[in-house]
Amino acid sequence: MLIPSTLDTTLAPKGKHVASLFCQHFRYDLGPSRSWDKEREKAADAIIATVDSHAPGFAKSVIGRQIHSPLDLERRFGLIGGDIFHGKMSLDQLFSARPMIGAADYRMPLKGLYLCGSGAHPGGGVTGAPGHNAAQAILADRKPWSRRKP
Ligand SMILES: Cc1cc2nc3c(=O)[nH]c(=O)nc-3n(C[C@H](O)[C@H](O)[C@H](O)COP(=O)(O)OP(=O)(O)OC[C@H]3O[C@@H](n4cnc5c(N)ncnc54)[C@H](O)[C@@H]3O)c2cc1C
Repeated sequence: MLIPSTLDTTLAPKGKHVASLFCQHFRYDLGPSRSWDKEREKAADAIIATVDSHAPGFAKSVIGRQIHSPLDLERRFGLIGGDIFHGKMSLDQLFSARPMIGAADYRMPLKGLYLCGSGAHPGGGVTGAPGHNAAQAILADRKPWSRRKP
């Protein structure tokens, strides 16, 4: 949980705060009989109750809330499956299998097109590492002796 208004007082009126609760461990697929459109509020209630059990009074202090379920993240921000890393960081999608086997060297099938974001090795997170590696591949391809001209 982050409370950014403790540092930036312009985010909330005096005496009030905004808190962001980032709760990553929710499945996107809830099965055929449940949907995030129906479960969204319940999930938020459970999260707030958890905080309240550690910080009594928290739940009562909430006067408004905005919920982004995995489905909302997909609809609103185009994050497929609600995955914040542009593709799950699961064993079958890491290293030479990111984003898929045969396409893990940043070079896409279309000549001159490179994958430089979280979908590429080493994956999601605010590291800049996929972009750095893609830039190295681009520079290598621009060398006069490169067989892979961009
Ligand atoms: C809620 C949330 C919390 C997170 N928390 C953390 C964290 O605590 N720590 C951490 O390491 N990572 C965190 N992440 C993951 C991290 O933010 C991403 O893995 C990372 O930002 C991906 O970087 P990227 O450069 O690949 O893509 P992005 O940061 O998604 O950048 C892609 C950019 O391309 C732009 N774009 C898209 N389409 C077009 C287009 N057609 N033309 C021009 N521009 C376009 C987008 O507007 C965007 O600015 C979080 C993600 C989310 C959603």
